[in-house]
Amino acid sequence: MYWKRRFFENIGATSVTPQSFEISRAQGCWIIDSKGDKYLDFLSGFNVTNIGHSNEQVIRAINAQAQQYMHTTVYGEHIQSIQIKLAHLLLSLLPSSLDCSYFLSTGSEAIDAAIKLARSATGKSGIIACRNSYHGSTIGAESLRSDTEERNVFYPLLPDVRFINFGINEDLHFISPQTSCVIIEVIQAEAGVRMATDDYFLALRKKCDECNALLIFDEIQTGIGRTGKLFAFQHTQIIPDILLTGKALGAGLPLAALISSKNILSSFQTNPVLSYITTFGGNPVCCAAAFAGLQYLLASNLMENSKQNESIIRKNMTHSLIREIRGKGLFIAIELDPRIRRNDFIQKAYEKKLLLDGFLFEHNSLRIMPPLDISEADLNSGLQILLEILDWYKINLESRS
Ligand code: PLP
Repeated sequence: MYWKRRFFENIGATSVTPQSFEISRAQGCWIIDSKGDKYLDFLSGFNVTNIGHSNEQVIRAINAQAQQYMHTTVYGEHIQSIQIKLAHLLLSLLPSSLDCSYFLSTGSEAIDAAIKLARSATGKSGIIACRNSYHGSTIGAESLRSDTEERNVFYPLLPDVRFINFGINEDLHFISPQTSCVIIEVIQAEAGVRMATDDYFLALRKKCDECNALLIFDEIQTGIGRTGKLFAFQHTQIIPDILLTGKALGAGLPLAALISSKNILSSFQTNPVLSYITTFGGNPVCCAAAFAGLQYLLASNLMENSKQNESIIRKNMTHSLIREIRGKGLFIAIELDPRIRRNDFIQKAYEKKLLLDGFLFEHNSLRIMPPLDISEADLNSGLQILLEILDWYKINLESRS
């Protein structure tokens, strides 16, 4: 009670109804509260804990780096071998055109940096983004949010942003010679996990090339193994000019990266000099966590597991109140019958010790994104809770009709 009272008194809030769940510790796919109750995590801290909570290899790497040095100066001035090791490993897993990494701290910061880079590298200002995408909360990232009428307290936002519908080929004609960049997710997360076709991505790449516009993939949610490959774009046949990763990259610590070609990234050095500077981007302790986390992911079968777990979810989640299951790997949305109030459903799951959430722009779907190290038994026990709640709704809805 003490911490709860102090939380409401001293901590700035983001909503009037915070979950206010008091954490004691977390391990694997379990979060333990202050009373010692265990909750099954189907959220992964919004796709941060892909390799599970409290991974021992990551903790050892953090300790070792903290004992060596933690912060020497702002990003980009000193040679810190752990940054180089991480960049080298990441780049070795990517197509050769993506050969240079710029480290930052958060996803929103990576988005803002990418906007600046695209404008300075192309000399153009136009930006194309998709309706119903969330790219972060800084003013640059906020400007890429299409429901801005409701958010007009923040006006004026960035000019020259045009919104298109995700996955719709006909909208690609809005990309023009004035476009500096197209910022797009490979799988649209907050729209409720929406996919696009191979043909769409091929047409998108072609149109960007024709207009000399940089193609920027925001893989801040979909990256680091979540969809069964290291990055979701590796399911497509195209390569972006700029790849953004964050969230799970730091294996629990704040780290993001803007990955592009040496040529494009040179704009930060020269046009103008010090175009983007950051104190904590690429912090060595965060890089140590990320390096250990990435090594762990690559040596494990977690990416393969996430594909198998997708099949388990699709096979076991059959119910008359489920409308659709969308997604790839453990990046899944379950769309419910519209008569069910999603937030009530989430509350019922919480009472049964299953942590769930929904999406910003889709109000009928549940977010099913557990840590990739979840066992088949734990996954099934979580799915069983969902089915029990659905049965409860079925009885109640039938008795009402
Ligand atoms: N891009 C996407 C697709 C996201 O989902 C988010 C955060 O949820 C961001 C960017 C912003 O990341 P951050 O919260 O680390 O600033």
